Amino acid sequence: ELKKIREFVVNKAIQDEIPAFAGIRNYINGEYINPIQDQWIDNYCPANGEVYGQIPNSTKEDVENAYIAAKSAFPIWSQTTLEERSRILIRISELLEDNLSRFAEAESKDNGKPVSLATQVDIPRAASNFRFFGNAITQFASESHESVGQDTINFTLRQPIGVVGCISPWNLPLYLFTWKIAPAIAAGNCVVAKPSEITPMTAYLLGEICKEAGLPNGVLNIVHGLGTTAGQAIIDHPDINAISFTGGTATGAHIARVAAPLFKKLSLELGGKNPNIIFADCDYDNMLDTTVRSSFSNQGQICLCGSRIFVEASIYEKFKKDFVTKVKALKVGHPSDAATDIGALVSKTHLEKVMAYIEIAKKEKGTILCGGNKVVVENFENGYYLEPTVIEVVSNDCRVNQEEIFGPVVTIMSFESEDEVLEMANKVKYGLSATLWTNDLKRTMRMSSQLQAGIVWVNTWMMRDLRTPFGGIKASGVGREGGFEALRFFTEAKNVCIKY
Ligand code: NAD
Repeated sequence: ELKKIREFVVNKAIQDEIPAFAGIRNYINGEYINPIQDQWIDNYCPANGEVYGQIPNSTKEDVENAYIAAKSAFPIWSQTTLEERSRILIRISELLEDNLSRFAEAESKDNGKPVSLATQVDIPRAASNFRFFGNAITQFASESHESVGQDTINFTLRQPIGVVGCISPWNLPLYLFTWKIAPAIAAGNCVVAKPSEITPMTAYLLGEICKEAGLPNGVLNIVHGLGTTAGQAIIDHPDINAISFTGGTATGAHIARVAAPLFKKLSLELGGKNPNIIFADCDYDNMLDTTVRSSFSNQGQICLCGSRIFVEASIYEKFKKDFVTKVKALKVGHPSDAATDIGALVSKTHLEKVMAYIEIAKKEKGTILCGGNKVVVENFENGYYLEPTVIEVVSNDCRVNQEEIFGPVVTIMSFESEDEVLEMANKVKYGLSATLWTNDLKRTMRMSSQLQAGIVWVNTWMMRDLRTPFGGIKASGVGREGGFEALRFFTEAKNVCIKY
């Protein structure tokens, strides 16, 4: 069957002299090629709601093609010296920096995020991902243990897994795509990667950067398409032995079910419903500014956004007034406009989902303190714009406080005591991050250890050190990314025991 697929792949590639669409194509074995079935999906621009291109609607045959390329590249890539791998990764990083504005504009057009955000955060971080893992791999040593008195030595080899699959979401497209690819290839693996079908653009552009940086053909293969077809083919593939996935909790659960009988190694970075806990003794101004950011950055479409705000009762009314004033001052606008704070949501479907939650909040007796409506931006009337929305809720158990909305919508409520807020913060199915605002050291230590989250920020938000472990607990995921955790995930440990 494999032979048949291979013949089909080759014949189709020969026929594909005339590309059906001269835009986004799959990047396989160092070449941009059309999908084998010649099927395409429309790609929408969130800022104006118009179709601005098409992407491959790849199938199982394209994934097989990518797998074959990756498998062929593996023997040489896995034996390439660490210094050489490191050099190539750092070169990719430099080329991304050289192409910053081109990538930032593409990211903004595809995703709807302000171009300023893509320029300051998304693309620099993608470049850092390659630089960081390019350096980290040279420090990632095997361990050895002398077994005293028995004339034996044990050492642990960290070997690349082979062909691995990387699947990423639309909210931080290149940032998260490269957060997986960089450690995977640094560790000597070859990759079949699929970006979100909603935001394929920068992943597409990455292919040519990798080629220019000298990454050998087949080490990174990028297949575009739907989760249910292209993504499913990656997770179903019997010889793609590890899957690094970031996306929704339901998709993560599905991947875990598919991967379990195939004994695939899994890293799952999933949804969040993160508490932002504000005590009266905090540094108020810093807290207020950062809370606006942690609520609405990237239109609230960051898994780490603090979407449930709990405020100590003694400052609740003051906070409510000051926060709403600041939120009302945020400018919703076209992503290319330098004055824009909040761009467009990623898709029409997503906008409708977020707006449906605002209706749910009203039915649950929530009070809309500000926002709640679509915004019509002049000349871009069909774009997916929504006012930043603050909802005062009456209970932590309501749906808007329990379910991930993933848009510019936050809830606020007050609390009386540390125990009460701890219970509410933890009473949710997710456990990704938590933010705490206080100047009390003992409380900081108590709460940090008891909050059910993979990351706790105290008096700051989204400050990331790439060496530290990143990931969630409960329905927010399984495993950790970042630093050596990522390199451990993308390698198998093999113990060798020698008696001499
Ligand atoms: P999603 O789960 O719909 O899609 C994510 C990726 O999985 C896409 O590339 C999609 O095509 C693919 N996919 C979908 N079905 C698949 C299947 N059956 N097999 C294989 N692949 C499949 O998520 P999304 O809507 O793109 O992203 C939003 C979600 O991502 C939110 O829940 C958010 O919290 C989460 N997220 C988590 C983190 C984190 O680090 N924990 C970071 C960013 C986003």
